[in-house]
Amino acid sequence: MPNNGTTFEFVSGARAGAGGHVLIVPLASKPKPPMQLLSQVDAHCDDAVSELVDVGALGQDVGHLSHTTRSGVYRRIVVVNLGESKKLSAHQIRKAAACAAKWLINEKIKQATLWIDGLFSHDVERPVSEWAGGMTLAGFRFTEHKEPDKDELVKVRIKVASDDKAYIITKMPKIREAVTLAEAINYARRIAHQPANVINPTTLAAEARRLARLHKLKCTVLDYAQLKRLGMGGLIAVGRGAEHKPCLIRLEYKGAPRVRPNTVLVGKAITFDTGGYSIKPGAGLESMKFDKCGGATVLGIMKAVATLKLRCNIVGLIAAAENAISHEAYKPGDILKMASGKTVEVISTDAEGRLILADALWYAQKQCKPTALIDFATLTGGVVIALGKVAAGLMSNDDTLSAELGESGRRTYERLWRLPLWDEYRDLIKGQDSDIRNTGNKRFAHPIVGGMFLKEFVSDNVPWAHIDIAGPATDENDKEATGFGVRLIVDYLQRRLP
Ligand SMILES: [Zn+2]
Repeated sequence: MPNNGTTFEFVSGARAGAGGHVLIVPLASKPKPPMQLLSQVDAHCDDAVSELVDVGALGQDVGHLSHTTRSGVYRRIVVVNLGESKKLSAHQIRKAAACAAKWLINEKIKQATLWIDGLFSHDVERPVSEWAGGMTLAGFRFTEHKEPDKDELVKVRIKVASDDKAYIITKMPKIREAVTLAEAINYARRIAHQPANVINPTTLAAEARRLARLHKLKCTVLDYAQLKRLGMGGLIAVGRGAEHKPCLIRLEYKGAPRVRPNTVLVGKAITFDTGGYSIKPGAGLESMKFDKCGGATVLGIMKAVATLKLRCNIVGLIAAAENAISHEAYKPGDILKMASGKTVEVISTDAEGRLILADALWYAQKQCKPTALIDFATLTGGVVIALGKVAAGLMSNDDTLSAELGESGRRTYERLWRLPLWDEYRDLIKGQDSDIRNTGNKRFAHPIVGGMFLKEFVSDNVPWAHIDIAGPATDENDKEATGFGVRLIVDYLQRRLP
């Protein structure tokens, strides 16, 4: 895989000689750090940390860096502010770690020692793992289409040090697991970032096959002819206008006996969304390559689960299509017959995600025996209006699944906010010449209309959740993919392991 940014390798402090002469010290600034904690780290750096604390150099903000120099083993000492001790969360630790990582990258420092004792005594389950994950995520830069930068830092080695050496030795595997997870998230981000002339439905399927070979997953790709045979009128209509025809990608990971729960994930991968004949305005159109983030998230989850060898069963389905304009493209007013047999009048060709997902959800129930069915999609602009970039919209037919996902969202900071799927909303998609329509003609409840549409294709007996990630899948400026959903589902699966 091409190099994209900087990777971080974490080694045990019990091994000598890997830490360089930079010492990184994460420390909560409020209240003032306890004397004992300070004197422990001070012993390694000639009181440098207390000196920074005493002159008030730690600052107020999470991730603020304060520096000083010494002539001992460590020449440069950097304290990273974790903020207020009482408010410390996994998210805050990752944020502080990201600041430290970016500093190391800018300064081109290849190795450093991380003193971890200041990360503890807070209400965070695995603070060192969170730190390691935060650094790894911050190392990602999408540079593979740029001229290689000879000075770029490819790898940083971090020696994990503590006064409690036994702790480090027992925790190193967990720390490496956190790095593995973060690398799977970075992989999802990399796929999401690829432009439409690199990733189309055909090359996305090839990427899925490559991933399957690498991690011993089963991979099946239903091509255009097979979609036609299965009568997938939604996926076919949306994708047929493009040169590269649509496909349905199926990845399977079996890490548990057959009787265990079988989680089926469905990802929306519109490799580029022009809007079709309901064409989008030109401004910001380049960010429509990110309309495949749901599919990228599913790939990232499959990679994470397989690398971590989780003892669970999981199927990842990706509905892949390019929503293009051509003489073959579908048109507003078309009445489509979906795989389930329902007919849909196309009101907007830009409400295409639900059409491809509907057929994929039908296939999931017919072919994959889901005990839980979860879809990820950058489905509506409306969910961004409602929740911004802070949370994804969650819609579900099952309170238990919804609560479990909500809890994982809270734990991973990939937060979900549930929106209702009440019967009254069905009026918004009631068809005139067809069973249903793909969007309402009023601007009411857009994210919910998307959810209500999908609900038409899911049996009440299958616990299902629809996660509209149109907000948090990318950053504030729609320039960077976040890999939202990977950490969430890995946590959800881990918490349900036997
Ligand atoms: Zn669209």
